[in-house]
Amino acid sequence: MTQPQSWEARADEYSLYGFTDLPSVQKRGAVVLTHGEGPYVVDVNGRRYLDANSGLWNMVAGFDHKGLAEAAKAQYDRFPGYHAFFGRMSDQTVMLSEKLVEVSPFARGKVFYTNSGSEANDTMVKMLWFLHASEGKPQRRKILTRWNAYHGVTAVSASMTGKPYNEVFGLPLPGFIHLTCPHFWRYGEAGETEEQFTARLARELEEVIQREGADTIAGFFAEPVQGAGGVIPPSAGYFQAVLPILKKYDIPMIADEVITGFGRTGHTWGNQTYDFVPDAIISSKNLTAGLFPMGAVILGPELADRVQAAVEKIEEFPHGFTASGHPVGCAIALKAIDVVMNEGLAQNVVDLAPRFEAGLKRLAQNPNIGEYRGVGFMWALEAVRDKASKTPFEGHLSVSERIANTCTDLGLICRPLGQSIVLCPPFILTEAQMDEMFDKLEQALTRVFAEVA
Ligand SMILES: *Cc1c(COP(=O)(O)O)cnc(C)c1O
Repeated sequence: MTQPQSWEARADEYSLYGFTDLPSVQKRGAVVLTHGEGPYVVDVNGRRYLDANSGLWNMVAGFDHKGLAEAAKAQYDRFPGYHAFFGRMSDQTVMLSEKLVEVSPFARGKVFYTNSGSEANDTMVKMLWFLHASEGKPQRRKILTRWNAYHGVTAVSASMTGKPYNEVFGLPLPGFIHLTCPHFWRYGEAGETEEQFTARLARELEEVIQREGADTIAGFFAEPVQGAGGVIPPSAGYFQAVLPILKKYDIPMIADEVITGFGRTGHTWGNQTYDFVPDAIISSKNLTAGLFPMGAVILGPELADRVQAAVEKIEEFPHGFTASGHPVGCAIALKAIDVVMNEGLAQNVVDLAPRFEAGLKRLAQNPNIGEYRGVGFMWALEAVRDKASKTPFEGHLSVSERIANTCTDLGLICRPLGQSIVLCPPFILTEAQMDEMFDKLEQALTRVFAEVA
């Protein structure tokens, strides 16, 4: 379908697609975009799409926010780039660290910058290895995460990610242990209540710690809501059950808030939505509202003190990226935090979340929707062949890809994830735009379920 020299053909010829369903893109061609307007993006042919995925969860202020672009331009004029090595850093970096600790759940803390979420998780693992070794426990190296977790793509963060596709890379590396995903609807056993399921997962955690030996474990990482695993909120009481066990064995708890940070779940942090305080927070994606590649490790008071003591012992933390704490990234992040928290974006998530849920609840009456789940502005619908038995559609039918492709044809971008369709629109979405999202999605569901019936 692509014409020679078309944008689609040129994309195909010279670009290697990441995380892309190749049969779909070969049949349909890439969507090549030129710009955006609010929550919409526009392609080279002038077609508009409502991007119900906020780009990749991150463009929370939409695609043409004037204030953010101005903050970036002003900083490019003032001081367009610098590092944070050798005791030097930009004033913007100083201010952003203060701001991140201020808006964190921590009374005090320390921040370290990276260029991405993957690197922030990777950095946190290295910090834990460094810390434990410095405290005389170099054998504390194993990392606990959960199945369906997504923590990134570097060799370490991909090892933390709990997805089967990493087998093609020979990952995970040894010492990365995956616990049961806290998705009650899918992994609860017959006759088990949600409370019993949570208790079973807590027992599993303690058994794994005892089996492996607490003094071999460096840390436990969890997304408050698993994002790329298919928008999976924790089962009831999950973090309240897990945290005391981690505490008992002195295992640091790291909240990967790359998606859930800055308002996505209806509070500033997902840990507030689920009422727990982690030992450190990983931030990225919406940290800069998607305008700059940036990640941050935010250490709470105890880890900040312990890491600082470890650094003082050898007089250096031998780690950092060339663009860590980039002044333009920091200036944008400072503005993004202000925009999200003070221009009504976070409030809009809170205000429209009930309408969001009501729309999904209605769509979930469809006999081929097994479950709707989520919180705030991150939700998923899971398609099933049979609702009562939760039997999925046959894999070769690629049902979720077909739904997403049909949505694209209708001018709506949403994401297929396993058998689910993920919706995580920008925080600026209006009620009318939300209705447009649901209308288009409903048309796509009706069309595709009729095709595969
Ligand atoms: C996207 C994501 C990452 C990885 O971030 P990148 O910037 O893509 O490296 C890590 N953790 C979570 C929870 C994410 O959603």
